[in-house]
Amino acid sequence: METRERKIGLVIHGGAGTIAPSKMTPEIERDLRSGLQRSLEAGSGILKNGGSSLDAVAAAVRVMEDDPRFNAGRGAVFTSAGTNEMDAAIMDGKTLKAGSAGALTHVRNPITLARAVMDRSPHVMFVGEGAEAFARQTGIELVDEKYFYTEERWNALQHLQKAEADARATGKEFAVSDQDRHGTIGAVALDQAGNLAAATSTGGNTNKRPGRLGDTPIIGAGTYANNRTCAMSGTGDGEYFMRLVAGHEISALMEHRGLPLAQAAQTVLDQITELGGAAGLIAIDRNGNVALPFNTTGMYRGYVDAKGNAVVGIYK
Ligand code: ASP
Repeated sequence: METRERKIGLVIHGGAGTIAPSKMTPEIERDLRSGLQRSLEAGSGILKNGGSSLDAVAAAVRVMEDDPRFNAGRGAVFTSAGTNEMDAAIMDGKTLKAGSAGALTHVRNPITLARAVMDRSPHVMFVGEGAEAFARQTGIELVDEKYFYTEERWNALQHLQKAEADARATGKEFAVSDQDRHGTIGAVALDQAGNLAAATSTGGNTNKRPGRLGDTPIIGAGTYANNRTCAMSGTGDGEYFMRLVAGHEISALMEHRGLPLAQAAQTVLDQITELGGAAGLIAIDRNGNVALPFNTTGMYRGYVDAKGNAVVGIYK
């Protein structure tokens, strides 16, 4: 676990579970690192200029949504039906306002829609057709489904479906390996005014059943921010985050048990591990301490250090 002290802070993740080191090419690694770097620059530029943590997390997430290497927006994974269904959420730690959208099939930047749900509707969560109708009404960009087709994700679906069928045929138990995960993306930030915010966006997991929602759009599970405690964004097996209400649990451990951020985050990750989940998360508190624990072989991640330098990491 990495921790730092600073007045403004930004932490991002590009998903838990990484390409096997043996399959990582210099080109893929360069793309991933540059995507993380650009995301950090987009978010930290806003924070350094006195902008809000909400604007910073949305900007950081948007960069990764537009990047086909990450499982959100453009690079979203495929459902078992060969479609793309995306979820996103954003939360303001100052007001506890939140916006989320799920099962999106045409929204280019799901995080922009989540923000609009928060800012421009009296509601917190929209899904499916109603969500896209709201996007249309508020002038949010919709794209043809083909926009979300990437060969890499399509091949990942074929590979996973074959592995699952083989396991069924031989009576073996099927488990998704870390290399088959293409985790969610997210960002958490602390701004100069001391406000925390969190944003998460995802295509979910490869081969998920159509209509399945994960933790990402569930406020308190995969996305949570509260100025009294912390902002967090999760990645990995969403079902465990939902069952543990993981984001809110980290906050509750800090608020009611007085645990420091790193310990609260690790405690909840340990609970996910105990239940059998593969996961990672990022979190930041109001003093700028950060935590980036994960139990997978790697997690695409980055933060801006005390001197304003961007630090990115992939493996443990
Ligand atoms: N947490 C995401 C979900 O369950 C997927 C992931 O991060 O790998 O939808």
